[in-house]
Amino acid sequence: MNVTNPATGMVLAEVPEDTPAAIAAKVEAARAAQPGWAQVPLEERIARLRRFRDGLVRRKEELARRLTSEVGKPIRQSWAELDAMPARIDFFLDNVGPVVEGETVHADRTKGLEERVAYEPLGVVANISAWNYPYFVGSNVFVPALLTGNAVLYKPSEFASLTGQAIADLMQESGIPPDVFAPVLGPGAVAAQLLTHPLDGVFFTGSHATGRKVAEAAGRGLMRMQLELGGKDPVYVCDDANLDHAAPSVAVGAFYNTGQSCCAVERVYVHERIHDAFVNAFLEDVRAFVVGDPMDEATFIGPVTRPAQVDVLEAQVEDARGKGARVRLGGRRRGGPGSYFEPTVLTDVDHRMELMREESFGPVIGIQKVKGDDEALALMNDTRYGLTAGVYSRDRDRAMRILSAVRSGSVYWNCCDRVSPRLPWSGRGHSGIGATLGLDGIRAFVQPKAWHLRSARA
Ligand code: NDP
Repeated sequence: MNVTNPATGMVLAEVPEDTPAAIAAKVEAARAAQPGWAQVPLEERIARLRRFRDGLVRRKEELARRLTSEVGKPIRQSWAELDAMPARIDFFLDNVGPVVEGETVHADRTKGLEERVAYEPLGVVANISAWNYPYFVGSNVFVPALLTGNAVLYKPSEFASLTGQAIADLMQESGIPPDVFAPVLGPGAVAAQLLTHPLDGVFFTGSHATGRKVAEAAGRGLMRMQLELGGKDPVYVCDDANLDHAAPSVAVGAFYNTGQSCCAVERVYVHERIHDAFVNAFLEDVRAFVVGDPMDEATFIGPVTRPAQVDVLEAQVEDARGKGARVRLGGRRRGGPGSYFEPTVLTDVDHRMELMREESFGPVIGIQKVKGDDEALALMNDTRYGLTAGVYSRDRDRAMRILSAVRSGSVYWNCCDRVSPRLPWSGRGHSGIGATLGLDGIRAFVQPKAWHLRSARA
């Protein structure tokens, strides 16, 4: 399998794909190794994952450059992803103890009866990951999974294979046995092959379309399943919003990582009273973003990682234009090497347009004028997705009233495109099933065992 630099179209490396026989051997080895790993004292498992965390810090520069070269993420944003890793991993290291500790829930001495709950690892789990934030979305799964005593078969996206291999190497150097954390490399078919094996769980991050295939495989194998899927995340800018803050904040939320974040702002609704002022400020902010070589520190917008997505963006813009939208900025693919699409802003959009209904996952955004809060709320909820939603307003009560009625796993007041390790990350509807991060994101990797203990009677 070739790994290609999306900024240049040049082949960076060749990676050997795992064959069906190799996958079967890795599953078998993980199955054999997992009970031993679960018996390693928790303190020791924590120590080894702390070594992994420290390795990410030590190797930051090299890992960031590798990520930028294969995914096209602007280098400053690769640094930012790696810089955020220690705090994210520390959350798991600091909180795993109480989650896995068992407890006596009932004791009756006169009857010699004790009832206890203990928490056990699931066993051998698959982690099928996305390329857009391979450190974030991968570690949300593999760090708590390993800490709680599971073995992990880690399938990075084919677009982040070199990063996936680097993660596996660092795990091994940190003392995680190779059979306990095993990379499975190759395209999507390799992940599908992995899921034909009897596993104890699959933890998937990716698109809704692939998520459905994973769900079918999990159903067939009757394995636990967690899906972190895409979104069509809305933001509503109220008439009392502080535009000096709202316009740049939403612009970054829409275009950071070249718009390729699960929680990127994908739709903007603006109160009619401030619509024109907001659009002007927003356009000015987007024009200031530097598009270019992702290795250049000045670059804010790089190439689109998957070349095929450029066609999707182009089709969405054409569909919207044909239905009356105004292209205020950009709107076209860029000529020359690499898969670049111009930062694109459309106004006069509505929900007949694909742009406002289907995930764009690129540097394209639509801004729709609304009459007030009721219309904004109805439009925000007019979607099958439900990952995040934001409201910009000076009035906290007003924002909270709207956000309470929005169907989504995370809601933001005066911010957007934000993830915290302390809070559960989950989606409603087509955005997923289950939660990563927060304490729920640790509990996801254990299962309860009920102990009924009765002392022998004389
Ligand atoms: P894809 O759904 O294309 O791929 C996700 C993973 O699934 C990849 O590892 C892919 O391998 C693999 N895969 C492909 N085909 C199959 C199959 N038949 N069975 C099992 N696995 C398969 O998503 P992207 O990688 O393009 O990621 C972008 C999507 O991920 C967006 O929709 C985004 O919103 C979502 N996402 C959601 C997040 C969340 O937390 N909710 C976080 C980050 C992204 P390969 O790449 O090798 O084809």
